[in-house]
Amino acid sequence: MSDEIFRKPFTQQEPLPEAAIARAVEVMRHGRLHRYNTLPGEHGEVADLEVEFADFTGARFALAVASGGYALACALRAIELKHGEKVLTNAFTLAPVPGAIASVGGVPVLVEVTEDLVIDLDDLEAKADQARVLMLSHMRGHICDMDRLMAIAGRHGLTVIEDCAHTMGAAWKGTPSGRHGLIGCYSTQTYKHMNSGEGGLIVSDDPMVMARAILLSGSYMLYPRHRAAPANGYFEHLKYDTPNVSGRMDNLRAAILRPQLADLPAQIARWNALYRRMEAGLADLERLQLVARPEGESFVGSSFQFRLPGFSAAMVVDFITRCLARGVELKWFGAREPMGFTSRHESWRYVPEADLPRAGAVLDTLVDMRLPLSFDPEDISLISRIIRAELLKTPVI
Ligand SMILES: *Cc1c(COP(=O)(O)O)cnc(C)c1O
Repeated sequence: MSDEIFRKPFTQQEPLPEAAIARAVEVMRHGRLHRYNTLPGEHGEVADLEVEFADFTGARFALAVASGGYALACALRAIELKHGEKVLTNAFTLAPVPGAIASVGGVPVLVEVTEDLVIDLDDLEAKADQARVLMLSHMRGHICDMDRLMAIAGRHGLTVIEDCAHTMGAAWKGTPSGRHGLIGCYSTQTYKHMNSGEGGLIVSDDPMVMARAILLSGSYMLYPRHRAAPANGYFEHLKYDTPNVSGRMDNLRAAILRPQLADLPAQIARWNALYRRMEAGLADLERLQLVARPEGESFVGSSFQFRLPGFSAAMVVDFITRCLARGVELKWFGAREPMGFTSRHESWRYVPEADLPRAGAVLDTLVDMRLPLSFDPEDISLISRIIRAELLKTPVI
C-alpha cells in the first residue's frame, strides 16, 4: 500500500464571509476609509466595531488599532511604562511580545513555561518583585490558572496586560480571556481568529488607561467620536500631555471584521471540533504527549501542539521531515535558528539573557501545527494517520 499524502496548505484561510465582502465594497464605494471621515450622524465602521467588541468581551471600553503588536505597545504606553523599566513576560511566546516591550524602552524579564505550555506560576512568583508589569501571553491559546495568577499579581502589585492574540473568544471559568487583567490586547491579523490582514483591539474597564490609549492611537481631538470610550472629561487633562503615536484602524478593515465577529462563536465551535478530532486521532501514542486542557479553560482550538519527550533534536527533525514529505507541515520550537513564524527566546538577543532550563527542555521537543478552518474533519483524520504512522517509524534509541 502506498503512503497516503495530505495535499491542502496549512496556511490557507477561509474566504471572507459574503457579508464582509459586501460591507467592504460599500466602504470602498463611498471612499470614507479614515475612521474619522464620517458624514453627520454616521458613526463609521471602526466606532461600531469597538462597541460590538466591547459587548463581545463584556468590557466597558474598546479601541481598534493597526495591529496586535501595536495594541501591546499602546497598552504599555497607556500605563506609562518608563524607559528602562522591567516587564515580566512568558519565555514561550511570539516575537511581537518582547518586541512590543522593547519598542517602548521596556526590558523583558522572561518567565519559565510548564509542560502544558503556560506560564510557570512558581517562577512568576519568584520573579514578581522585579517588575510592576506582567505582559501575559496566552501563547497558542493555552490559559494558565488565572485565579492563581491574579492572586500572585495582587500580592505583588503587578499590573497585568493580557496578550490574547490566540485567545480571542476563549475564557477562564467563564470570564473572557483579556478580562482578567487591566488591559486585554487582541490581533485580527490573518492567522488569528478574525482576519483583516492586519489589525488589533484593546479592551479595558479603566477610564484613564483607555482615554490615554485612545489619544495615543492617533485620535487628535476627535475622541468624542468614539462610542466605546470613557466620558469626555477623562480626556480633558490628558489631551495636552499624551503624545500621538498613530496606529488607528480604518473603516475598511472594521467593515470586514464586524460580520466575522458575529460569526465568531460558530467558528470557534468548528475549530474545537477539529481540535478534539485531532486529539482523539493522536491519543494513546506512548511517545507523543498531548497538552492537557484544564477544566476551567474554554479554548479556541485554532492550533494544535504536542510534545515528543525523549526525542533528540535529530529525531524530531527527521520525524518532521518525513511528515512534510507527506504534506503535513509541522513546526518545531526547538530550532536554534529562527525560521518562519517560529522563534525561541535565545534568538531575541536584545532581551537580557536568562537561565531558563525548563523553557529550553519544553521547546526542544515541542511540535506545533495550525488547524485552519479550510480543513474538514476528514482532513484531520488523514493528518493524524500520517503523524501516527511516521511516529511509529521513528526508531527507539
Ligand atoms: C500574532 C501575535 C501577536 C501580534 O499580532 P500582530 O497583529 O501580528 O502584530 C502577539 N502575540 C502573539 C502570541 C501572536 O501570535
